[in-house]
Amino acid sequence: MKEQKVNILGTEWKIITCKEQESELLNEKYRDGCTDNSTRTIYICEKKPDCELQDYEMWKRLSLRHEIFHAFLFESGLDASSNCTNRPWAENEEMVDWFAIQSPKIYKVFAELDIL
Ligand SMILES: [Zn+2]
Repeated sequence: MKEQKVNILGTEWKIITCKEQESELLNEKYRDGCTDNSTRTIYICEKKPDCELQDYEMWKRLSLRHEIFHAFLFESGLDASSNCTNRPWAENEEMVDWFAIQSPKIYKVFAELDIL
């Protein structure tokens, strides 16, 4: 089990990377990560025995970026108070995945342009 701390919009969050059975929020939940807003803790699951992904380290980084965006949305007050036609936009997994996938590229562009 690995524990890290990160500051998200002025609030300290914990990131716990552990085996599935070491977290009740991961165990038998078919998740690779989850965010517990009540304790401001992000859980990232280590590779499961039946996982077939070849590059699980890349998958963990992507999962962590995904969960960090959930944390940013929560700290912004946008986690559940948003609406769209079928469900709140801040719970839209495609939107969160878009940020998780694109944010390294966005950061790189910002850094190249010195606009951070
Ligand atoms: Zn999610």
